[in-house]
Amino acid sequence: MQPILIVGSGLAGYTLLKEIRKRDSTTPVTLVTADDGVFYSKPNLSNALAAGKSAAALAGASPEKMAADFGATVKPRTRVLAIDTTRRRVQTDQGELGYGKLVLALGADPIPHGLSGSAAGDVLAVNDLADYAAFRRAIEGKRRVAVLGGGLIGCEFANDLAQAGFAVDVVHLGAWPLERLIPPEAGERLADSLAALGVTWHFGRSAKSVEPDAGGYRLVLDDGSAVVAEVVLSAIGLRPRVQLAQAAGMQVGRGIRADRLLETSAADVYALGDCAEVDGANLPFVQPLLVQARALAATLTGTPTAVAYPAMPVMVKTPAQPVAVLPPKAGVAGGWQVDCGEGGVCALHLGKAGEMQGFVLTGSETGRRTALLKQLAA
Ligand code: FAD
Repeated sequence: MQPILIVGSGLAGYTLLKEIRKRDSTTPVTLVTADDGVFYSKPNLSNALAAGKSAAALAGASPEKMAADFGATVKPRTRVLAIDTTRRRVQTDQGELGYGKLVLALGADPIPHGLSGSAAGDVLAVNDLADYAAFRRAIEGKRRVAVLGGGLIGCEFANDLAQAGFAVDVVHLGAWPLERLIPPEAGERLADSLAALGVTWHFGRSAKSVEPDAGGYRLVLDDGSAVVAEVVLSAIGLRPRVQLAQAAGMQVGRGIRADRLLETSAADVYALGDCAEVDGANLPFVQPLLVQARALAATLTGTPTAVAYPAMPVMVKTPAQPVAVLPPKAGVAGGWQVDCGEGGVCALHLGKAGEMQGFVLTGSETGRRTALLKQLAA
């Protein structure tokens, strides 16, 4: 019997394996992954520094333990190079493997920063545990870090670094942090709280080049101003890994296109997690991939189950000013109603009839999210 073949050992791949084993202990499952296959929780990467946790402390079960615990074959350091959907085989750098069902849980790549300059190759990005170990080595004994991008991950790293005592510059193209998700009043509150912690903001700016400069780097911005830092961290966003699927003839958009059963345009090939665009939406967060993994495990073990998401707020891990965001559905007509209190900001996205479509809460207002979710469900 050909196995279920899962590609990827991130939260999507390993959660799917666990969910399959909750339902079925006999179907052979093989998981291959390009990295070392050690289980870890990626969200911890952007708040481990101030908590004093090293990369080693974030590492969970080894691939051998995952294989033993979940009755699977786990092949670390095995990169899939090509997929043949007709012969139902994948080509890896360790040889060929056959599959009955193939699941792509490939994650996403950092968007290239595009900086010019002789130090462009020194700019770091943190997207997995190995990157985090390299980042920790790079900041050892240093004081000044420049962060490119004031989105979710950029803000989290800025908070973590500042809390750990680093002087942090954030270069951000938007007029306030997280500008695509939250209204200006909430953005200003977040920016002010991080500034109070030691973050210097460069709003409306992008970095153009980076050159070595007296033991560190000189980052030149688009207005000609310069930021000097000892480490430069890029957090300008991620893009789903679609190349393998595309080369195998599958439909891709922003992510690998899949329907609500997580099936791609190729028969018996499924996609979930950061690499997937499920029913038109790429949702690169943990909660959606947990819901997807549960549904897909049911489908793969004989009970076709369409993914159905509950309301899934995103919590931004910025302890200086925590933010909870439930974005309104794409394309809905409405606007923000913003209430600013001493402890935080409460912004409700309201439709024409005053119905709530989403919310943004900061600071102590985040405590209202459960009640608002109930209100939304009702
Ligand atoms: P990944 O974890 O990227 O796993 C992809 C896997 O595919 C890897 O094992 C890789 O080696 C493997 N792979 C790729 N290509 C190949 C190939 N060709 N052959 C074999 N293997 C391959 N979300 C939240 O909801 N809350 C948070 O607080 C939060 N914080 C975050 C903080 C940071 C710093 C980052 C970067 C993300 C954060 N996210 C957060 C997003 C969340 O972590 C991701 O949505 C989730 O971890 C994605 O899991 P994944 O398994 O889809 O991808």
